[in-house]
Amino acid sequence: MESPASDLEKLNLRKITVKSALHYHVNEMPCNWDVNVYRGCGHGCRYCFAQYSHDYLGAGNFFREIYAKVNVAVLLDRELSRRRWRHARINLSGVTDAYQPAEAEMKIMPEVWKVLIRHRNPVVITTKSSLILRDIELIRELAAVTSVYVGASITIMDEALRKIVEPGAAPAEERFMLLERCREAGCTANVMLTPVLPLINDDKINLEAIYKRAAMAQVAGLSAWPLNLKGSTKQKFLTFLDAEFPHLVVSYRELYRGSEISQPYWNTIRALKAELQQKYRIPAIQVPGTGSAEEAVQLTLF
Ligand code: SF4
Repeated sequence: MESPASDLEKLNLRKITVKSALHYHVNEMPCNWDVNVYRGCGHGCRYCFAQYSHDYLGAGNFFREIYAKVNVAVLLDRELSRRRWRHARINLSGVTDAYQPAEAEMKIMPEVWKVLIRHRNPVVITTKSSLILRDIELIRELAAVTSVYVGASITIMDEALRKIVEPGAAPAEERFMLLERCREAGCTANVMLTPVLPLINDDKINLEAIYKRAAMAQVAGLSAWPLNLKGSTKQKFLTFLDAEFPHLVVSYRELYRGSEISQPYWNTIRALKAELQQKYRIPAIQVPGTGSAEEAVQLTLF
């Protein structure tokens, strides 16, 4: 079983240069363009769907072998300067978390924010780290000229459980606080209650505590989606369950015949979500500005 790095010293951090910063994805939410500053992620969430990307590249342990794209800001500046770029919203967290532990040392994100400010380009970013607050003045500057959506993925209020499932990420309360600071800086703040892990974080006490705290933080939206066990993530997650929650393995095999959760189970969570949404008056997340077919054409012009 791949074990996550719990501190920066355990990371094998490598600097790489890449050929392009922007990547286009058809029908991708919340937007079609993304910029990924890192490959691999030291947050070590045991359900991480992005692990497949390392497998694909043969890049080693996703949680420890971290590749930092040191030229990404320079390339982004060049790409956003193209005459045909239409200022489509860019997702800064399409695959991995830009504010993972390696960013404390690499400091790539301040340069990315400066480029976005220069081009007044709208963005969406999701993180599990309050390290984003290091760059709050740059984020405030961008939010003053265009729309900035900051999301925090918040899944588990209980700290002991959170440390088992998301060992390298910040406690839930820290994530709510970063959302409050980003909202005060002019960003639209959202909570991603994702993933909902059957029989682990799906109890009403946990879900309601997240909705309640999100309402206190005055977030604009909250959405919840189930765990997806695509590709190699399934076997990795089952191995993790076997080690930490062995009594749940049989139930997961029944709930996940393929990569997606069984619909009858998810319908019960949907009903609970609707009840909490109404009680705490928090709408589902909406991010306008999803890319168009025209934007796809731009890529061919780069
Ligand atoms: S923060 Fe996101 S990318 Fe990083 S390990 Fe967790 S789920 Fe994966």
